Amino acid sequence: MTKIKKLDQETIKKINQNNVLYLLYRHDQLTKHDIAKKLGISIPTVVTNINELIELGFVEEAGVGKSTGGRKPVIVKFLPDSRYSMGVVITKDYVRMVLTNLHFEIIKEVSISIDEELQSIDYIIEAVKEFQKNVCEELSIDENKILGIGFSLPGTVNEKTLILENAINLGIKNIDFKNYDFNCPVYIENEANASAYAEYFVYPDKSNSKLIFVSITEGIGTGIVFNSLLYKGANKRAGEWGHMTIVKDGKSCACGKNGCWEVYASSKALLKTYNKDTGLKRRNISEIFMELDEDYKTQKVVDEYLEYLAEGIKNIILIMDPDKIVIGGEIAFYEDYIKEALNEKVYKPNAFFTAKDCKIEFTKLKANASVIGAALLPVMPLFFNNNITI
Ligand SMILES: [Zn+2]
Repeated sequence: MTKIKKLDQETIKKINQNNVLYLLYRHDQLTKHDIAKKLGISIPTVVTNINELIELGFVEEAGVGKSTGGRKPVIVKFLPDSRYSMGVVITKDYVRMVLTNLHFEIIKEVSISIDEELQSIDYIIEAVKEFQKNVCEELSIDENKILGIGFSLPGTVNEKTLILENAINLGIKNIDFKNYDFNCPVYIENEANASAYAEYFVYPDKSNSKLIFVSITEGIGTGIVFNSLLYKGANKRAGEWGHMTIVKDGKSCACGKNGCWEVYASSKALLKTYNKDTGLKRRNISEIFMELDEDYKTQKVVDEYLEYLAEGIKNIILIMDPDKIVIGGEIAFYEDYIKEALNEKVYKPNAFFTAKDCKIEFTKLKANASVIGAALLPVMPLFFNNNITI
């Protein structure tokens, strides 16, 4: 009995400390009185927690606020540079590594392109270790101040066992991240999931708790934030909407099926269709959008592309009924060109939903959603006692 009681007290203590630090992260600075009021805990509990957090270097006392009668209240300030986090994005073509502070500001970053010969996971791991070592030396950061390394990966990820189970686009499977020693905790997550959580966490608003992030690049990945947690499903494969059938017996997909959404609505699909229909050899989709205003053929290809994109989004809205869909990945750079037409196609009058029920937005994190999502992972245990996934 005594043991259970002790454990409970420790858990409560941990939860209180998480809550105090998270509150200060969100507000930057607050008086101890404000903290007690907002969290519904006693002033002595706040004082104990603040003293511990000062000792750990996460916060500091920063002067006094206005008195409302008695003694002037002491202001406590969150210190974003007290710890750091590393985020790593691995794609088919490049590896991007960043160091962020606790406000998720990128302090240092390095990208390396990888060709097929060098595309072994061991090569990538060595590059990450080198970045970790160099960044500490260059910026004179104590290695212990790096909370951990988060990896954002294009495939099925078991974040608990630290195994990348399958990454079709990288051509690798069953990569066990427990085998790599980084001298700090390691976290892994699927790319779209990491991006979804980053969008939810960095830009919190009331309509964010049921959010679907649709990452559109080479393929289509989606991440589901459900009631503020990442929904991963029974086998960690939830949100593989890139492979839902959008055209029966349609074009073949790398997954082995036919007619998958990503074969019609990824940025790669847009480029492929455009080059096939026009006989031109554009190398990237930016060249397509540059011609959009003047060229009828280009308008036709993009319009058809958006029809497919809209079909998939409509299916997601019908299945999940989210507060918002956030479009990310390469296609999101062309928001100004596609937003209006996409909205028109998705919200065509129907029996179930209107634009008021579920908004379509474009990522506010732009090209950083995935890498910030990776860097978030080692920081979350500071703020939450429970896992961020269900
Ligand atoms: Zn597929």
